[in-house]
Amino acid sequence: MVVQSVLDDWIEVKEIPTLEEQAREVIATMRSIPELAMLPVNELEKIPLGRLRKNANRLHAVCRYKKGVRKKNALGPNDVRCIDVHPESLTKEWTRYTKFLLFHEYLHALGFSNHNREFRQMESLWPDREAQGMGSAFAEHLRKKSAKWIWKCPSCEIEHPRARRSNRRYRCRNCNLILEDIENP
Ligand SMILES: [Zn+2]
Ligand SMILES: [Zn+2]
Repeated sequence: MVVQSVLDDWIEVKEIPTLEEQAREVIATMRSIPELAMLPVNELEKIPLGRLRKNANRLHAVCRYKKGVRKKNALGPNDVRCIDVHPESLTKEWTRYTKFLLFHEYLHALGFSNHNREFRQMESLWPDREAQGMGSAFAEHLRKKSAKWIWKCPSCEIEHPRARRSNRRYRCRNCNLILEDIENP
């Protein structure tokens, strides 16, 4: 019995890696991508990691440059002050997305500062294709967390998390019934 519970604890710890552990894994994966071989991937390890404010709702992660660094110059990991990731992504459910976020920000740190075609090409090198598409689901997750009100259809019970009340101004697209305002607990 005791052995069993220790094993469970161990599995639990292994399943939710820290941000630093995830970053090390991302960097290791980047080392194995031939298209990145010419870039200073090893220097990414020196970049401090942090967390965005818990109530950030637009930003999922950010690469912050040091003071005075001009985006148009050739940039590298030494120009980066820190990379911050949304704390809501640091759960088991979002691990794959967090790794993709780190990869995205590391590309910025390697000098690809704009979301241009070249950047999108680099971004598509991430081996977990599905993780790349998790951004909209994560955005929805954040909206639900921060919503003060849920607009709910009394018939089909579809829910729309929102910051404000609907004040009986909207109807359900499926049922044509007026949506009700429910306070989000
Ligand atoms: Zn970006
Ligand atoms: Zn409905």
